[in-house]
Amino acid sequence: MEGSEESGEYGRVRTSTEESGGVVAMRHVVRAEYKDDPPDAVKTWHMVRGDGNVAMCGRELRPDAESRPDTAWGRTREPFCHTCGALYLREVPSEPVDV
Ligand SMILES: [Zn+2]
Repeated sequence: MEGSEESGEYGRVRTSTEESGGVVAMRHVVRAEYKDDPPDAVKTWHMVRGDGNVAMCGRELRPDAESRPDTAWGRTREPFCHTCGALYLREVPSEPVDV
């Protein structure tokens, strides 16, 4: 099952919100999916929520995949994952997007 790691994550988040005294803004990171082995050949960019290497669309990316701030979304030469884009824009409606 895939749920074992997530349950621990939820418990950590729940306690940290009380301790930090405020809600931390959800951080998104753009990360690369590579074609095959050459690590410099980016195939598609995905959006990852917080730290980790699993994109919002569910695709598991390499742990050492290149990452960009979420402001880079839509500003790279390589294509972006459409599923990640839809999910990301739903979570960050205030983000200005140049299409
Ligand atoms: Zn994706």
